[in-house]
Amino acid sequence: MKKVLVLGSTGSIGINTLNVIRSLPGKFQITALMVNSRIDVLEPQIEEFHPECVVVKEEIPAEQLRKKLKGKIEVLSGISGLSKAASVCDYDIFIGAMVGSAGLAPTIQAIKRGKRIGLANKETLVVAGELVTQLSKLYGAEILPIDSEHSAVFQCLIGENLNQVEKIILTASGGPFLNKTKADFLNVTIEEALNHPNWKMGHKITIDSASMMNKGLEVIEAKWLFNIQQDKIDVVIHPQSIIHSMVQFVDGSVKAQLGLPDMKLPIQYALTYPDRLQNYNPRVNLPSIKQLSFFEPDLDKFECLKIAYSALDSGGNAPCVLNAANEIAVDKFLKGNIKFSRIPYIINKSLERIEHNTQPDLDIIFQCDRQTREFAAGLS
Ligand code: NAD
Ligand code: MG
Repeated sequence: MKKVLVLGSTGSIGINTLNVIRSLPGKFQITALMVNSRIDVLEPQIEEFHPECVVVKEEIPAEQLRKKLKGKIEVLSGISGLSKAASVCDYDIFIGAMVGSAGLAPTIQAIKRGKRIGLANKETLVVAGELVTQLSKLYGAEILPIDSEHSAVFQCLIGENLNQVEKIILTASGGPFLNKTKADFLNVTIEEALNHPNWKMGHKITIDSASMMNKGLEVIEAKWLFNIQQDKIDVVIHPQSIIHSMVQFVDGSVKAQLGLPDMKLPIQYALTYPDRLQNYNPRVNLPSIKQLSFFEPDLDKFECLKIAYSALDSGGNAPCVLNAANEIAVDKFLKGNIKFSRIPYIINKSLERIEHNTQPDLDIIFQCDRQTREFAAGLS
């Protein structure tokens, strides 16, 4: 039985990871659960899966949980608790299912122990992709993508020579605002932005999908996961979210991976790779879908996607600034403090202001993340 740590077990990916593990009895054992604050969701998970390690990042709920558990399991807390658990708990597979660049530090601890990393937390690769992939090579830690597009590309690349890849084609649903105009972005509401047509996800990634920053972050994620130049990463809008992504080879052949929009498949594959295990989840039924359509993204309307390409082009700490400013801007939008159309403004201002560093080490990345958050917090 493989032992599994889930960082972010109370979120959308975390809960789906536990669903997958429950559906494959005898294959996986949960040994560690780490969350931000939702002990009401965590408690039944502890009862069902009996982890040896538990971390609640926020101090107050952590203390409440300690009282309830009466010393039966030690509950660590704080950011240091997340990294400590990743560096001392017993596990074979680390599932990075938390949101935001705060996932970077614990993920690095898992990499340094040479563990398998099932990575949904794309922000980790966006802010420090070069360092994370270098470290994973050094310590022999495999990074297996959970993001559906990257899982698709990973599956299309099996048995292929990376030098014979002409381009990667990431598909994007276009989100809830695909048919709105740029002028409409001034007045869209939080509820409208959270109303994704195909995927049920956490709030932050749902807003990123509405602005298409999610696809921008995924272009950066793809660069580091597949070691490919950015001009070989295309984005195509595919509103049905059935083709999860494609790879085109130098002979013109295109391979695609298809499936229903359900994260359980990429999660299961990251857990069981290189095996595929039988499951009984619903299957794609092409005649009932009838039509698969594709078109180019409008980079003028979805400015965030354009800014992400340009931050990747600048390299160094620019993707870190992009990500931190976006995290702050999305949080402000979700709190009703800014309009949706101000998200790219805050990111652009931060990219202009924060000093560029072409070869940041991890300390500089953490510092840049903090500085950007402080600066972006003052914008509206
Ligand atoms: P979510 O908001 O539903 O869940 C986030 C989880 O992270 C929660 O368990 C929360 O407790 C935990 N968390 C947040 N901040 C934390 C902190 N500072 N310390 C410890 N734990 C913290 O988010 P989600 O939709 O599950 O997304 C998680 C990650 O997976 C994101 O990076 C997202 O981009 C990526 N992803 C999600 C989906 C999806 O379908 N939901 C698909 C692809 C990629
Ligand atoms: Mg995705």
